[in-house]
Amino acid sequence: MDADDLRHYLEFYQDLGVKDLYRKAAPPPTKTPAIVEEPRVIAVSTELPPLAPAGDTLLKILEDIGDCRRCPLHAGRNKLVFGVGNEQSPLVFVGEGPGADEDAQGIPFVGKAGQLLTQMIEGTAKKEGIDILRKDIYICNVVKCRPPENRTPEPAEMEMCGQFLYRQLSAIRPKAICALGGTAARALTGHKEGVTKMRGHWFQWRDIPVMVTYHPSFLLRAYNQNAKREAWEDLKKVLHFVYD
Ligand code: URA
Repeated sequence: MDADDLRHYLEFYQDLGVKDLYRKAAPPPTKTPAIVEEPRVIAVSTELPPLAPAGDTLLKILEDIGDCRRCPLHAGRNKLVFGVGNEQSPLVFVGEGPGADEDAQGIPFVGKAGQLLTQMIEGTAKKEGIDILRKDIYICNVVKCRPPENRTPEPAEMEMCGQFLYRQLSAIRPKAICALGGTAARALTGHKEGVTKMRGHWFQWRDIPVMVTYHPSFLLRAYNQNAKREAWEDLKKVLHFVYD
């Protein structure tokens, strides 16, 4: 089992409520977010990040990132992975951070998980009679440089890189965002629940609705086949919300 497998495996049990696999002391009680379906969004509990500069554009954001050395992730980077797709897209997908393939190519979601994401977007859209392809959507990540061994980005790394994600989202101003996996969901919504609890529900980043679903690399694991069906349901919800 590699580090990525192990992390998803542990997250899977954590999401099921098994939180003490290796911990002796009981964790402090966590507050369960009030999940409601209607009204469709859940208020954000964290402080808002600073607003993006007026007239911000993706090009300006990329220039400001430059040859970034603001956090330790830069040290292992081959290519910075900024984002890809339609800059005027009404829908943005946000993943966690680049893997090996993305780091090599400088493009998000081009490895196995990316191929599954493409199938999910294009397959669901086609089935639902929505005329879009992956290239019509914008895709980016919480962090722009690959974490070593595909580990979860550290809070300080997410905070540093998050300012650029928030500027990307402010510049695009999509009608909805789809958070892929727990890291993106937590970074965007401020909620600390596992993805199993959050998926399929609407949250909010600023005034933009956020649908949470599973990360495609989680769906690639053999023990997560049920989750695939749920992810297709989540995708259907977000595509109809945006394109109907
Ligand atoms: N996983 C992510 O979260 N993002 C990518 O770009 C690729 C894999």
